[in-house]
Amino acid sequence: MSLFSSFRRAEVHARAGERCEYCHLPTRGQVATFPIDHIIPKSTGAGHDLENLALACPPCNAHKWTAVEWSDPITGRLAPLFHPRRDEWNEHFRWVVGYVLAGATPSGRATVAALQMNNSDMVELRRLLAGLDLFPESEGI
Ligand SMILES: [Zn+2]
Repeated sequence: MSLFSSFRRAEVHARAGERCEYCHLPTRGQVATFPIDHIIPKSTGAGHDLENLALACPPCNAHKWTAVEWSDPITGRLAPLFHPRRDEWNEHFRWVVGYVLAGATPSGRATVAALQMNNSDMVELRRLLAGLDLFPESEGI
């Protein structure tokens, strides 16, 4: 039995625009169901309310697990992970040549590193999806 009702799941999907709220991988063209991430882990007592939920692709969800902060690869200091309800995606991330996602802030860089957003499989998947017009954000790269 799912932790979330079909109504709640539909709310999360619609708000996310049918894409991972971390790396922006679209649900379209994927065979795996995208999990619903607890932005602040439920193990800390955080709830299942809509404000604590985010749509995440399976790789982002698996790598994030219960993390809420990670080391910024440039400064070496801990930085809070990108928070889809509190933070603006475009302020923290930007696309660079080759379908690679770069962090534009300490939180963005920490999130790219923690969620391993640029592993070779993800970069190749973005390239393939772009070729099928299923990854509109790649336009202009
Ligand atoms: Zn993702």
